[in-house]
Amino acid sequence: MLHDKCFMIRELHEKLINKEISAVKLAEDYFAVIEKKDKEIFAYLTLTKELALEQAKKVDEKIARGESIGILEGIPGAIKDNILIKNIRATASSKILDNYIAPYDATVIKKLKDSGAVFLGKTNLDEFAMGSSTENSAYGPTKNPHDLERVPGGSSGGSAAAVAGDMAVWALGTDTGGSIRQPAALCGVMGLKPTYGRISRYGAIAMGSSLDQIGPIAKTVEDVAIVLSAIAGEDKMDATSARSADKKYEDYLTGEVKGLKIGVVKEYLENLNPEMKEKMEEVIEKFKKMGAEIKEVELPFAKYSLPAYYIIMPCEISSNLARYDGIKYGMRIDDQETSKVKADGLPKTLLETYLDSRKYGLGSEVKRRIMLGTYALSSGYYEAYYLRAQKVRTLIKKDFEKVFNPSADGVDLILTPTTTTPAFKIGEKTEDPLKMYLEDIFTVTANISGVPAISIPCGKIKVDNSEMPVGFQLMGKWFDEENLLRAAHAFEIM
Ligand code: GLN
Repeated sequence: MLHDKCFMIRELHEKLINKEISAVKLAEDYFAVIEKKDKEIFAYLTLTKELALEQAKKVDEKIARGESIGILEGIPGAIKDNILIKNIRATASSKILDNYIAPYDATVIKKLKDSGAVFLGKTNLDEFAMGSSTENSAYGPTKNPHDLERVPGGSSGGSAAAVAGDMAVWALGTDTGGSIRQPAALCGVMGLKPTYGRISRYGAIAMGSSLDQIGPIAKTVEDVAIVLSAIAGEDKMDATSARSADKKYEDYLTGEVKGLKIGVVKEYLENLNPEMKEKMEEVIEKFKKMGAEIKEVELPFAKYSLPAYYIIMPCEISSNLARYDGIKYGMRIDDQETSKVKADGLPKTLLETYLDSRKYGLGSEVKRRIMLGTYALSSGYYEAYYLRAQKVRTLIKKDFEKVFNPSADGVDLILTPTTTTPAFKIGEKTEDPLKMYLEDIFTVTANISGVPAISIPCGKIKVDNSEMPVGFQLMGKWFDEENLLRAAHAFEIM
């Protein structure tokens, strides 16, 4: 099987045009691997075999006619199950959407279809993308391909595990507070959260609308860049998507970082455990060797990112998830778990239907956040929580403006770890939500400020009997994915 060796997009593209393999055979090979490995890993919730083979066949026909094909044509990938593909089930890993069939394509899906990419299936996530381990999925946890007793991270754990487990060449995730970067780090792959507004969110099931962003997960920076080029751009269906010229991000990967200024935050590194600290020091040394200038920077308000996030995000959730009431959206509990006719002989009222649908359809983490958000937005508390968190958010953004300001000798990029530790054991943090929330300590800042950020693998750390991957994060200036990817790529190939 061709697939036994792992290939990147460009290599596979060459093989397709040289007719060493057909797109149909390539997709079939991937399905064979999925069949073999995914019983244990459980990266996929739904396989879209019929669609994939139909997409692949079109590519083969094009090649047979002697037409040229684009770089992504025929290349198999996976889509997080909170992104809509027309006529395919989209659950967001929630029971309340168990039988929801997407009525339209998300803009990113439409764009990928136009690029000729092949969709293998929909991947597992924490319910509505709320979590850091994929354990909050209503369908069961995904396992880390490097150690099946450990989590793959979350919430895009299925997407990261699919790529790390060679069950997809690339994948899409969503990132509200770290959900692309943290699982990428824990699974040893690349994950990019683009600038807020770089990519249309139309057709992505909303979690926190001012924070959510779709982005690629893949094994190499070039693959990340290729997928980004396909999905980026303004969209009239998403008013927060920004106007930008179409770009081929893969063209910016020069392998050069000479003269690039990279900021490091001293406190971030000081408080790390020794293994992680050593990894970060190695990364810094490598950048120095390549000719980048490492500079200490201060982000005084960034330490409030996590508390601000855990106010703003649940507030937005409480509003976004109001639509799942069993009437407008979602499965209706009227005659399933609870009887349709009550003890008093009367049918359920509308309110009872709403309450029961949400009670049985939503998981406990989702309900916790809806309650926190509703409380924080309620009159009398709004100023103390939501409004204050928004003010803090402005201060954090100002920190970044200052640090990135070229006329004040600012830096081009900021380097941090992606997580504090490698992947933890399944079940290790489920009892304590606050422990789970702390997973996001390094990642939420980029969502709060809107800047682009990428997680890049930087080796492995021994935990118990396993060697587990870890990653570091680079954050860039708003809409400067070029420098971000360029630095990530230079590191990768050095
Ligand atoms: N782990 C974070 C949370 O639970 C991030 C989630 C995300 O980015 N979707 O909120």
